[in-house]
Parts: sequence; C-alpha cells; structure tokens
Amino acid sequence: MSASPNKRRAGEVMGGAFVADPRPVVEGQQVLGARCASCGYTTAPAAPWCPACQSRDQQRVAFGPLGTVWSSTLVQIPVGRWKPPYALAYVDLDDGPRVLAHLAAPAMLKAGSRVRIIGADEGGDLMVTSESAT
Ligand SMILES: [Zn+2]
Repeated sequence: MSASPNKRRAGEVMGGAFVADPRPVVEGQQVLGARCASCGYTTAPAAPWCPACQSRDQQRVAFGPLGTVWSSTLVQIPVGRWKPPYALAYVDLDDGPRVLAHLAAPAMLKAGSRVRIIGADEGGDLMVTSESAT
C-alpha cells in the first residue's frame, strides 16, 4: 500500500513539520497523559500546556483502566489495516480524559456502558472490552 501524497501520516514530515501521532499512548492497561497542576484538566496524549488554563505546570500521569462509553459506532468500511466490521468508542476514562478506542468485539455499546482497557494491539491502537461481557 502506498501513502497518498496528500495524506498526513504519523511519523512523516510534511511541509517541514513533523506529523504527530494523535492516538493515545498505551502502557499496559493504562493511557499515558497529563493532569494540569493548576486546574486539574486532563489530556492524553500529554500536552505541553493546559488547553483549559494555558498553565505549563503539567504532571505526567497514567489513566485507567476503567471508563464509560460516551458514544460508539460500528465501522463498515476498511480503513488502513482495519477490516470491517469493527467498532470504535469514545471512552471517558474514570480518572482522565475522553479517548478514542477500538472495541475488542465488533459491536456497538450503549452510552454509559462500562469498559476496561485491555492494552494496545500490534499496531499500537488502544483496545477496550466491555465490563459487562466478562
Ligand atoms: Zn489547567
């Protein structure tokens, strides 16, 4: 598969600027990020300053492994190495920010469903599984 010259891909340089990987950084069953020491706002990946109050006093922390589904969807088209059907969810981590995650099973979960981080897959994508199914 060849990369489109117009598509920004993590790790490439476009227009002289490094293209950052926007995905959450996963370590074990947690997501690495930061909590603002001034106002408590959380970010993942960690940001160099707080998006809420602009403080540069950011404490590096690990969030998870539990969270609540804010929204989910079942994807019916292939995207990159992902073949349909596969499910995505925005998850509000109990002690952290909202992150985009792949669901271990290809099925939507209702908003409010409890999920647990199971780690990153071989491609580095954040994976979660339903707590009610275990
Ligand atoms: Zn702040």
